[in-house]
Amino acid sequence: MTLRPLLTDSVKTQLMQLLRESHHIVICAHRSPDGDAIGSSTAWADYLRTLGKEVSVIMPTPAPDFLRWMPGFSSILHYNERRKSCDALICAADLVCCLDFNALSRLQEMAPALQAAKAKRLLIDHHLDPEEGIADVMISRPKASSTSELVFRLTYELGGFDAMTRSTAACIYCGMMTDTGAFTYASANPEIYIIIAMLLTKRINKDKIYRNVYNTQSEERLRFTGYMLYERMKFYASHRASILYFTREDIKRFKYKRGDSEGLVNMPLQVRGMRLSISLREDTERDIIRVSLRSVDDFPCNKMAEEYFHGGGHLNAAGGELPFPMSEAIKTAEKAIEDYKALLWPEQQ
Ligand code: 5GP
Ligand code: MN
Repeated sequence: MTLRPLLTDSVKTQLMQLLRESHHIVICAHRSPDGDAIGSSTAWADYLRTLGKEVSVIMPTPAPDFLRWMPGFSSILHYNERRKSCDALICAADLVCCLDFNALSRLQEMAPALQAAKAKRLLIDHHLDPEEGIADVMISRPKASSTSELVFRLTYELGGFDAMTRSTAACIYCGMMTDTGAFTYASANPEIYIIIAMLLTKRINKDKIYRNVYNTQSEERLRFTGYMLYERMKFYASHRASILYFTREDIKRFKYKRGDSEGLVNMPLQVRGMRLSISLREDTERDIIRVSLRSVDDFPCNKMAEEYFHGGGHLNAAGGELPFPMSEAIKTAEKAIEDYKALLWPEQQ
């Protein structure tokens, strides 16, 4: 069994020409970048640097602390903190690579800078329905586990595998792992395990990568999780759904740090029969509620996110936001659950 090629000959030629013509390259991913956004961006930057390119990685906002160990993390620039120097880099770039997002709006405060830039754009992403005209060359593969998987395949197809370092391999593994819940969903394609085997030949320590991401919590974070599960989780058993919510006060009380709630939304799905989990978090910077949705089987989180939460995403993981206070947001989530009752308990139909 071998890896099937990702690119047709014509797209490969197009991509190679784009890379040949580009010298100053900016890589960016979505706001609040996750393991896949950081892993794919740093790995793609590593590959482009082996081609002799001048590369900057710019994220709209910082990533959570549990990704700090990732090679390349400290050289990432944050648009919200260094707007002037980031604007200058974006303005001078001849290519901007858009990784792990499908619409410019997911860059939020950084979107206008990209729109104004003269640079060509390359999209590498695995979200459904990319925005029309978002890039000159589009590598959009919604069936892929992660953007990091796509970056691996591209590097391999462009002949960069031999030169791939252990650090780059670790970034790719981390992105694939975090976007699949450590290979527990969106990871049934056998080729994923060929890629993992190839990454292991680079001597990555996969168990350590797992521990770095999942088992390096602070005491406060673990207690915060306990509090959330005890006090802030509502089950709607007859709908096989749950809502978790937390406020700015909770955030202060538990010395919440960016990323502390990561993964929390998956926990209610540990209860037998649950199909949907919704989490609602009061944003600390803007007067909005951040919404995360997770489901199992064929329940369409992305549809619910589009319809009720001004968002979108994948079948089993989606997100959005609401411009309401928490009490109203809970009501909206309850209404969404009620309206989707038939899909939450299909066998009753
Ligand atoms: P999370 O719950 O981890 O914030 O987001 C899960 C997935 O939902 C993301 O990978 C992304 O595909 C999608 N998503 C999250 N927030 C938004 C949003 O505001 N708009 C859209 N279109 N998708 C989102
Ligand atoms: Mn991703």
